[in-house]
Amino acid sequence: MTYSRELSAALKKAKARVGDRVKAAGHEGILMPSPELVKDSTHIVLKLDTGYNLGIKFEPKTQIVKLAGRKDAKPGKKPKLTPQSEGKIALLATGGTIASKVDYSTGGVSAALTSEDLIGIVPELGDIAHIDMKTLGEWMSEDLDHENWITIAKECEKRLKKDDGIVITHGTDTMHYTSAILSFMLHTPGKPVVLTGAQRSTDRGSADSAMNLITSAYTALGDIAEVGICMHAQPDDSYSFFIRGTKVRKMHSTMRNAFRPINDYPLAKVFPDGRIEPISVRPYRERGKTETKIVFDNAVELLKVYPGADPKLLTNAVNSGAKGIVIEGTGMGHVPTKARKPWVPVIKDIVSSGVPVVVETQCLYGPVNPRVYSNLRLLYQDAGAIPAADMLPETTYVKLGWVLAQEKKLPKIRDMMLTNYAGEINDRIEPDMFLY
Ligand code: GLU
Repeated sequence: MTYSRELSAALKKAKARVGDRVKAAGHEGILMPSPELVKDSTHIVLKLDTGYNLGIKFEPKTQIVKLAGRKDAKPGKKPKLTPQSEGKIALLATGGTIASKVDYSTGGVSAALTSEDLIGIVPELGDIAHIDMKTLGEWMSEDLDHENWITIAKECEKRLKKDDGIVITHGTDTMHYTSAILSFMLHTPGKPVVLTGAQRSTDRGSADSAMNLITSAYTALGDIAEVGICMHAQPDDSYSFFIRGTKVRKMHSTMRNAFRPINDYPLAKVFPDGRIEPISVRPYRERGKTETKIVFDNAVELLKVYPGADPKLLTNAVNSGAKGIVIEGTGMGHVPTKARKPWVPVIKDIVSSGVPVVVETQCLYGPVNPRVYSNLRLLYQDAGAIPAADMLPETTYVKLGWVLAQEKKLPKIRDMMLTNYAGEINDRIEPDMFLY
């Protein structure tokens, strides 16, 4: 890639290098490399604070001003740990944006920071507690599977014996799957297990990682002995929500306050100064004994119903070895019933062969109701599908994998799916929980 002579001269005059913060044509951002194949480019590319890249055409009148030098997300000086409390927190890093930096040679973001780097970047953590760090992986969360969940859960099981609480840094995209499965695997954690992440990489001006880490550390030292996610509650840095691991979902791809409680209230508000304000109407679990069950059978499929969907999706799943199926039904938990391609008879056959079929709602909010419509009665009473109450699709999916690893018999699987192990089923859904 080369810049045109005029653009090169303007950049040289401004002493602006790739990675510096610059202002050009009224926009501020980090100067990114231009696409490699372009010769004599007349454009510069800025990474804006929103995370988007903006191409700006250089005209003779375009002013380029360097605002600040390039900041590499190098680990800071090893922080002096002089914690105000005697508490001990295990900080387990698994990757994701919170452990990422912008690679200025490609303009992309990749997982590259270890737990030591993280504490170097947010040294305040060292003031809150004794932090015992371990890097379990440098994974982007879309690449995770049940083997990674087991690795994380086993490390938590060890740490729950000796530390006061756990903070797990994690990619945000599938963090709610991990929080749900950890809620089952560590079903009585006895201490807080707090997952957190970042929507913006740590070396960017708008990074959300510092507040998320700080509020998570305070949560890990607090009294709410639950597995949950602690991230920004608002777009600004006012406070975080700590949300139960089975009732939380990433609901926005970019906003800092993307994680919301569904069919539940948050457990608590957590302020960056360490105050924790409980919200949840249900009594939260107190610190105490730890009980775990770290198992998972991944022969589970998660399928989505849509108008005209072919029930072959179900038979294909069973023929390729599925031992359990979760369906994201419509509305109160419907699948095509009197349609041209009905699902109900296929489900009936699958259930009679001993394979559980669990249906939840793609509305996310509100419960499945097996009785209201006659089509629902055919599915749940006649064909034998299991209605997943108000559980989220991701929670239902991981719960079925956890249950199948423990039970093979259909009636017992049904009982376990309808048992509330980790706050995943809420009998009282209040109107103000909607879009909380
Ligand atoms: N897709 C990546 C992940 O989930 C980055 C997203 C993030 O961490 O926010 O790991």
